Amino acid sequence: MFRKILIANRGEIALRIQRACRELGIPTVAVHSTADAEAMHVRLADESVCIGPPSARESYLNIPAILSAASITGADAIHPGYGFLSENAAFAEMVDAHGMTFIGPSAAHISMMGDKIAAKAAMASLGVPLVPGSDGEVPDLDTARSVAERIGYPVLVKAAAGGGGRGMKVARDASEIDDAFNVARTEARTAFGNDAVYIEKYLNRPRHIELQIMADSHGNVVHFGERDCSLQRRHQKLLEEAGSPAISPEQRDALGETATAALKKLGYRNAGTLEFLYQDGQFAFIEMNTRLQVEHPVTEMVCGVDLVREQIRIAAGAELGYTQKDVTFSGHAIECRITAEDPNTFIPTPGRVTVFHAPGGLGVRVDSALYAGYFVPPYYDSMVAKLIVHAPTRLEAINRMRRALDEFAVVGIQTTIPLHQRIVNDPEFQSGEYTIHWLERFVAGG
Ligand code: ADP
Repeated sequence: MFRKILIANRGEIALRIQRACRELGIPTVAVHSTADAEAMHVRLADESVCIGPPSARESYLNIPAILSAASITGADAIHPGYGFLSENAAFAEMVDAHGMTFIGPSAAHISMMGDKIAAKAAMASLGVPLVPGSDGEVPDLDTARSVAERIGYPVLVKAAAGGGGRGMKVARDASEIDDAFNVARTEARTAFGNDAVYIEKYLNRPRHIELQIMADSHGNVVHFGERDCSLQRRHQKLLEEAGSPAISPEQRDALGETATAALKKLGYRNAGTLEFLYQDGQFAFIEMNTRLQVEHPVTEMVCGVDLVREQIRIAAGAELGYTQKDVTFSGHAIECRITAEDPNTFIPTPGRVTVFHAPGGLGVRVDSALYAGYFVPPYYDSMVAKLIVHAPTRLEAINRMRRALDEFAVVGIQTTIPLHQRIVNDPEFQSGEYTIHWLERFVAGG
């Protein structure tokens, strides 16, 4: 097992990883920017190192500073969390080159899945169904027009290096393809420094269903079922459920079998998530995330597993120690991502929190780094808390979430708690019959 783990992240996920380490008896090193000197992940760490000024580029993305912090403190492993350096293959490689362990997959798999064109090609060759689209990169406008004609409008032009819902443009008909192609390309070049794009059929009413995988370095692969992440605004998830109200246990088993067989052939290691669009009874792969995800707690609640602990054990060379039939699913879990934003305009609301009271009681979990007196800095992602509930049925989980949201008090800054209250009280949400386009209309008031 590891001597000491450096956590290359901040906020709730840094705390989440610290908690798993503490339960495993492994000391942790926190890194932080000057803006985060008073942050909870620093206060609770065994040791902490300041790695730079507020800007993420100079701190949480500063590879030399993070590697130095690890070597000064004697850490022998680094957990990247999500975001920041978690999907940076060069970073994973450098961690290994410095004689430490990157808690995650190999650099080769990170870089393969980071290129969505390569990821789709790899999955297709392993028998995983894809969203219909171009055969690889679309290099010019002529190709874009002919691909769109072939698969039929509407189509979606997507950046190969895309992430965070950026670099995606819809063309509803032939009059929009030129603009969609040019804009997506320009956006991809400025946001990701890579202007390769590809085209997919734009599905009109899919659900976003993803599958949690865990693989050890001894060839054992299991899945922990699906999450339904269809509630999105601007292609960003807001509320997630496990399991999906739209999927039967038989569909889960079948999808799980295809996905675990594919990752086994690939020799994949550690945690990973395969993302699919689901429409008319068909699953179609869109991308794979080679890291822990924000929404991992809903899976933990229904499977009774600590995914971070599993990541650490596997990275240290341990075997999973169980097989697919040992993985069981119990009840239903829902997560609300609460951000420091105006619940109507979504404008970020950094500032000082004066009162913080988290809900509690049976089946309620709060993953947050907030506390009374904390100043939410303007420099980073605006998510400040994840509220997760677990109950025997979906209806009970919804009622529990309503109750927990009502108990949640954050004063001093505006948060999206009122928006989540509106969502969970809505009959259409409660019916479970929503697609990835539902929330956008709901937010717009229609
Ligand atoms: P990112 O890496 O930026 O998150 P994804 O490929 O995962 O991009 O897509 C994000 C979201 O965009 C999906 O969850 C879905 O809501 C929407 N989306 C992606 N591809 C399609 C498609 N072909 N048709 C309709 N919606 C799509």
